[in-house]
Amino acid sequence: MNELRCRVLVIGGGPGGYVTAIRAGQFGLDTILVEGEGFGGTCLHVGCIPSKALIHAAETFHALGDERALAAMGLSSGARAVDFAQTNAWKNGVVARLAGGVGALLKKAGVRTLLGHATLTDGKTALVSADTGELRIHCDHLVLATGSEPAPLPGLPFGGDILSSTEALALTALPRSLAVIGAGYIGLELGTAFAKLGVRVSVVEALDRVLPAFDAELGQPVARHLQGLGVDVATNTRALGYADGELRVANAAGVERRIKADKLLVAVGRTPRTRDFGLEGLDLAMNGPFVRIDERCATSMRNVWAVGDLTGEPMLAHRAMAQGEIVAEILAGKKRAFDKVAIPAIAFTDPEVVSVGLSPEAAKERGEMRVATFPFRGNGRALTLRREDGFVRVVAHADTHVVLGVQAVGAGVSELSAAFTLALEMGARLEDIAATVHAHPTQSEAFPEAASAALGHALHM
Ligand code: FAD
Repeated sequence: MNELRCRVLVIGGGPGGYVTAIRAGQFGLDTILVEGEGFGGTCLHVGCIPSKALIHAAETFHALGDERALAAMGLSSGARAVDFAQTNAWKNGVVARLAGGVGALLKKAGVRTLLGHATLTDGKTALVSADTGELRIHCDHLVLATGSEPAPLPGLPFGGDILSSTEALALTALPRSLAVIGAGYIGLELGTAFAKLGVRVSVVEALDRVLPAFDAELGQPVARHLQGLGVDVATNTRALGYADGELRVANAAGVERRIKADKLLVAVGRTPRTRDFGLEGLDLAMNGPFVRIDERCATSMRNVWAVGDLTGEPMLAHRAMAQGEIVAEILAGKKRAFDKVAIPAIAFTDPEVVSVGLSPEAAKERGEMRVATFPFRGNGRALTLRREDGFVRVVAHADTHVVLGVQAVGAGVSELSAAFTLALEMGARLEDIAATVHAHPTQSEAFPEAASAALGHALHM
């Protein structure tokens, strides 16, 4: 068997793993990255990127069919049609282009890459069955970045017409009807996209509202929009079984009904990938189903590190990448800790939802708060986009005016997350935000307006 040695061995080439490897390579550390399926991981191949490509294609198609909106602007469109095989091919092209980019960046950083499944034999050694044959790799530092996979629902195993997000994103023909179990961001992003492409979509959620991970006020505009799209949303409802193209559900009172669904998307969460690669043998301390890490992303075993979805919530690509950078810097001898003030969470639904830092409810525990909202109906840019639904909301400490949370709902507000997160990381006060000149006309103006509202003097409200 061929033997390789390196300073840093990274298992898993998703956002957590590939960023660790690139940064380690940039520091001149001899690094090997092993990836089982495709460099870029879940995010690039079956997550963030293909879902956003699908959402964009669906939105474009939907806008062409919104005759009332078109007529209001003096426009009309001809017959529209979806060639979903081509939609899929375009989406795959975006993924392929970015995957090529990740490969090039790893190469530029001097990282050795291997495509194959890695199995750990101890905290310093892995066996890799690569296409080029079996290899044993010895390292000084092991970085675990094996990510997560879709969680199945008991009684509804993936297979056939029961899809996880991975299979839903690989469809090459549109189903006539789709039922989505789970109204979290993944279920609603995909459900909305398919609805906009003309699929009859139903959503079933066991809790009492959509987007339960966000506070209730943020989910309401999304629920209204889903209704407008004709999506049948059943909250407080449990899925019981699926057979012959019908999903059997029961509401809280136990009343059963059947929902027609050519395909069923189960989107009830993701579970960390901790099995089938020898992790149990390391006997690492765990945090529930996740690998336990400290503020440096160190596991309970010396020189074994872990980043990304494997290590807990929020399971998001940007958290994984930020952790990866920290680990590489520590391995390069720098003193670092993962101590971010805030990690933005976004649902790319329609409208989009952003939450950074504390919600008004969560902030209450820190003392008295000032909470203010500025609605997009008072924002010029939102009106030119014909999207006056939604708002920006700030949560600030009543005494110090330090901003502890910012949330927004609205078309395209995902891009505002950068300003919100920067404000929190920099410890901004309401006065800082209100006094910053924001370009006109942009939706971003709703941010200083909300801060001004919290200070008692919003201009356009
Ligand atoms: P992963 O991306 O899961 O990568 C882990 C990699 O490790 C995989 O490629 C796997 O093949 C490899 N691997 C595992 N075990 C082994 C082994 N033994 N040997 C070799 N290789 C192995 N996040 C966002 O921030 N924004 C979004 O908009 C967003 N949208 C999403 C949409 C969908 C539909 C889904 C499913 C997820 C989405 N996410 C989003 C979540 C995001 O994809 C994850 O948080 C992110 O990919 C986690 O990165 P990671 O590096 O921890 O793991």
